[in-house]
Amino acid sequence: MSRESEPRLFSVEPLLPFEAAALDDRLTAQVVVNRPLTSVFDYTVPEALADWIAPGCRVRVPFGRGNQQLVGYCVGLTRGVPQRRKLKEVVELIDREPLVSSMMLELTHWMSERYLCGWGQVIESVVPAGVKRQAGTREITCYALADNVNETLATRKLSKKQRLLIDFLSEAKEPQTVESLTTAGDCGTSPIHALVKSGLLVPIRRRVQRDEIDAKSILPQADLQLSGDQREALDKINGSLREQQHQTILLHGVTGSGKTEVYIQAIREVVSYGRQAIVLVPEISLTPQTIRRFSARFSNVAVLHSHLKDAERHWHWQRIASGEVQVVVGARSAVFAPLPQLGLIIIDEEHESTFKQQTTPRYHAREVARERCRIEKVPLVLGSATPTLESLERAQRGVDLLVSLPKRIENRPLPPVFLVDIRNDPLIARGHSIGRSLERAMRMALDEKGQIILFLNLRGYSTVVWCPSCRGGVKCPDCDITLTWHRDRQLLMCHSCEYASGPVQQCPVCDKPGVKYIGSGTQRLEQEVKTKFPGVSLMRMDSDSMRQPGSHDVALEAFRRGEIRILLGTQMIAKGLDFPAVTLVGVIDADTQLHQPDLRASERTFQLIAQVAGRTGRGDRPGRVLVQTMNPDEPVIQHASRHDYLAFAREELKHRLEMHSPPFAKLARIILRGLDESTVQLQARELAQLIREQSTALASGVRVLGPAPAQILKLRKHFRYHMLLSAAELSQLESLWHSVVPLINLRPDIEMQIDVDPMDMR
Ligand code: ADP
Ligand code: ZN
Repeated sequence: MSRESEPRLFSVEPLLPFEAAALDDRLTAQVVVNRPLTSVFDYTVPEALADWIAPGCRVRVPFGRGNQQLVGYCVGLTRGVPQRRKLKEVVELIDREPLVSSMMLELTHWMSERYLCGWGQVIESVVPAGVKRQAGTREITCYALADNVNETLATRKLSKKQRLLIDFLSEAKEPQTVESLTTAGDCGTSPIHALVKSGLLVPIRRRVQRDEIDAKSILPQADLQLSGDQREALDKINGSLREQQHQTILLHGVTGSGKTEVYIQAIREVVSYGRQAIVLVPEISLTPQTIRRFSARFSNVAVLHSHLKDAERHWHWQRIASGEVQVVVGARSAVFAPLPQLGLIIIDEEHESTFKQQTTPRYHAREVARERCRIEKVPLVLGSATPTLESLERAQRGVDLLVSLPKRIENRPLPPVFLVDIRNDPLIARGHSIGRSLERAMRMALDEKGQIILFLNLRGYSTVVWCPSCRGGVKCPDCDITLTWHRDRQLLMCHSCEYASGPVQQCPVCDKPGVKYIGSGTQRLEQEVKTKFPGVSLMRMDSDSMRQPGSHDVALEAFRRGEIRILLGTQMIAKGLDFPAVTLVGVIDADTQLHQPDLRASERTFQLIAQVAGRTGRGDRPGRVLVQTMNPDEPVIQHASRHDYLAFAREELKHRLEMHSPPFAKLARIILRGLDESTVQLQARELAQLIREQSTALASGVRVLGPAPAQILKLRKHFRYHMLLSAAELSQLESLWHSVVPLINLRPDIEMQIDVDPMDMR
């Protein structure tokens, strides 16, 4: 954050140092800074700022030995506390109003403990940059009628123009800008000044939006008549709402069971109490379809997605804080939206991995939502067709409430899922992605005027560039990742960093010719579909083809209108879409995640098949699903083909219990990274040793696994080693960590990351 860009409100010269004893009755501010530090620092507040400072305001403070000035957050104020040390002073108060509420201070403090990171780091990251800068606003002067305008009027004689302005203002009820006054009065500014002088008008400084942000109007729609199951689910949520006690409700509803309608009517109840609600959805579900569903039912919806400009986000933030917004629909970070009277949080597609943030603070929106709802004494609803085992297990223990929607709306059947064993398919053997059965099914679906979705979770053209001499894939020079050939851009690209190069004929490692471009991504699949079904309208959706903001929406609309017959893509098309005319879904390769060395490999495979299958048979026409796999007997694939979530969960939970893995254990992953591999390795060994010793000494009950090279050893030029801490309870991890932190002494060229409840183990 640059110093120039911040609004500066008060600035004081540093005062002369006081005697320690004199500090007693002065105001002391507790300040946290954006550093990986758990400490809160005390500063004295100069008298000039004492009336203005409040917890939640930003301050500028001298920090560390060099007294470098940093922006920090005031998190508390005390008076009259004797200080043993001489304290430094707050140099400047940046905000006139607190930037974060007391609830947010409590929540961010909880996050810093839960995710083992600095409180200041958490606050810094949850307040949007646009809000800090007050982006897109400027101060202007507005004019309002004075309070005693009627008495004054009786004693004054007004000109015609002045009269007009007074009438206009009493009609308008709101303070008005100079422009609107001069337009209304068809005059210059002198009548305004005259009215101010005679005490009839008062000027008011206001911060306003620089540009009007356009809000599209959407035709309102009435609520639907709920089915019996939906009503039951709604009654349970409403019951919890009325009790004004926190309760987490897991809404397990198969795809197409009408979960969204339940959310909407629960929010209806919330709004009727004058409160507001948050709906969190995965970023890729923030389609116009989702937005329309909420906007058609509520008059004031704010949508927070990652494409918002700073000024837009700030504008929404202010509208939300003013209480005028009824529903906030947004991705992960919308959990921090400043609703004045929160009534309910809903997390749709609770199982999605995008709810976990992959940078510090590495929080999971579900856990933050749970804590926020606990603080604000309101219910949290988690909705999914395939809940995470963590959420299911809590519900099974009775900590959370389980509510089920076992059937689709109007008793529509779940689509039959056919497993296609492609081990002996002649086309697949020749390198095709679409095997015989799937090709036949596609022809039938097209003949019957249906639409088709093809799913392949690998983007690019060739997913591996293979060197027969090295017997390995060609890797990124900076990462431990094989390069993907993108034919459209004629580039070999790394999917982890920005590395790209032109095509190669020789292996860059052994210089031998004859490298082969093998493996299929969505681009090659697109080519294959074009060849097999010439003239059929087709669209590819992946993060390469959908780079423009908004292109996603345009594409989906075209598909909805039937202009496109075949939609193929990555997980971008697997989620939440509701297209009644889709009669066939093809999963090109169900096994991509299955054999990953990740404790959630089975869970992800199940979720994927279930979610993709959920995209068909949603209208009057029945649909079906073909899943190509080399592992048709794998239990998880069998369960998925029968839509049997509970059977899958039973088996997987048993397995997790045996393996002491989540939800039966709590994990924290520590990664060390640095440019020199042997240093990283050595430091990782020392750290693991230290943690083990400390764990034994304290009988902490924490197990340490590792260190080991991370699955992706090299990432963006840095070598990575990791270790895993595992315990029955989070509190065990927390207390061990607090005792270890002061003892850690890493070399400055080694960076440490800690990830509590890691979702990504690579
Ligand atoms: P889910 O979120 O569980 O996948 P949706 O909320 O998308 O399910 O609902 C599936 C479809 O059923 C949608 O088209 C929705 O408009 C419709 N629907 C939901 N509830 C009802 C209802 N009570 N009566 C009629 N149609 C409904
Ligand atoms: Zn790379």
